[in-house]
Amino acid sequence: MKVQEQVSQAFRARYGEPPRWWVAAPGRVNLIGEHTDYNDGFVLPMAIDRAVWIALRPRADRLVHLHSLDFDQSKAFSLDDFRNEGHSWAEYVKGVAWALGEAGLTLGGWDGVVAGDVPVGSGLSSSAAIELAAARAFATVSNLFWDPVRMARLCQKAENRWVGVNCGIMDQLISAAGEAGHALLIDCRSLATTAVPVPAGVRFLVLDSAAPRSLAASAYNQRRAECEAAVHKLQAAYPDITALRDVSPAMLEAAADRLAPNELQRARHIVSENERVLASTEALRSGDMARLGSYMVASHASLRDDYQVSSRELDTLVDLALATPGVLGGRLTGAGFGGCAIALVLPAAAEGAAETIIARYRAATGLPGSAFVTSASQGARQVAGPA
Ligand code: ADP
Ligand code: MG
Repeated sequence: MKVQEQVSQAFRARYGEPPRWWVAAPGRVNLIGEHTDYNDGFVLPMAIDRAVWIALRPRADRLVHLHSLDFDQSKAFSLDDFRNEGHSWAEYVKGVAWALGEAGLTLGGWDGVVAGDVPVGSGLSSSAAIELAAARAFATVSNLFWDPVRMARLCQKAENRWVGVNCGIMDQLISAAGEAGHALLIDCRSLATTAVPVPAGVRFLVLDSAAPRSLAASAYNQRRAECEAAVHKLQAAYPDITALRDVSPAMLEAAADRLAPNELQRARHIVSENERVLASTEALRSGDMARLGSYMVASHASLRDDYQVSSRELDTLVDLALATPGVLGGRLTGAGFGGCAIALVLPAAAEGAAETIIARYRAATGLPGSAFVTSASQGARQVAGPA
C-alpha cells in the first residue's frame, strides 16, 4: 500500500473522518558535492520518490496531536508550552514548531498521522523529510506563505538547535525545493538554486550498505573543524577568503606548506569537489552521462583518500557497482561512514544491476544491504486526496 493510503486509513480509523489535507516531503540523494555545503560551496542533490507523509486536520485549540505509524506511538504537545524531551521522532516536529515560532510566525494546532518510506538513518535524510513535512503541515493549517528557502533554513535551525545535529543546509533545501525530473544545483553561500534536467537516458540506483554509522557524528564535527582551521591558516596568505569556497586548486597548492597534512587533504577534497560539482552540472545539462559518471568516481576517490569519510562497506559497494555492466559511475552519498552509495546506470540495466550488486555485496560482507532505483521528485508539497 502506498504511504498516502496508509496515513489516510489510519487517520480515518483514529478520527472517524477523512483527513482534510495531506502533505509530503521527500528524502534525497546527493549526485555530487559532498561536505561542500558547510564550506559555502556547491552541491547537486535530487529529491527522491520516497517521502514522509502527514494526513491532517486543523484543531480549534493550540494542541498538536501526532501519531507515527512507523514508530507505533502517539505524542501531543501544546504550542503554548512545549519542551525538548530528548530523542524521539516527535522532537523533529516540535523543533520545527519552535523554529517557525522564533521567526515570528503564528501557528495553529492540528491532528496528524505520520508515516514514510524514506529509510531511517541510512543517509537519505529522512530527518529533513519529516521536518519539511511538519513545516508544510504548519504552513497549511496556519495559512503561511510557502517560501522553500526560508522554510529550509528554519528546518535546518530546528535540526541544529532543537534536535542538536550540526547539519548544513543541503538536506532541508532539496527536500523543500526539489523539482520532478530535475537535480538541483545549490550554491550554499547564496542559497541560489538552479534546476538541471536529468536526461531520460539514465537512472540512479541507491545502494544501502546497511552498515552502522556509529563514527559519523564525531567525524563530521572533526572534518568541519579541520576545514575551519584550514581557512584560518589560508587567510594569512589570502585575507579575502572566508571559506574554502573561495579557494581555487592553484591557490591551495601555492599555500600548501601553511597547512598540516590532514588540513591540506581535507581542503584538497573540498576545493576539487566544488569544481567537480560545476563540471557535473554541465555534463548533466549536455547529456554527457559518461562524463558525469567519471566525476562521480573521482568524487568517491577524493572522499576516500583525502577526506577519509568512506568505509570498507561503501568502497566495496562502489567497486562492485563499477564492475557491473551498464553502470557509468558511483560514489558514496551523504556524510559517509556507512549509509548509502549511489550509482549512475543505463535504464535497461538498472534493475538487473541493483540485484547483481546487492547479491555480491551480501556475499562479500555478510551484511543485508539493499538497493532501489529512484527518480528525481518534487519537494515538499500539499497533495490532493488519494487517487
Ligand atoms: P537520516 O539519515 O535518515 O536523516 P537521522 O538520524 O538524521 O537519519 O534521522 C532519523 C530520525 O528522523 C528518526 O530516528 C526519526 O526520529 C525521524 N524520522 C525519520 N523518518 C520518520 C518517519 N517516517 N516517522 C517518524 N519519524 C521519522
Ligand atoms: Mg538526517
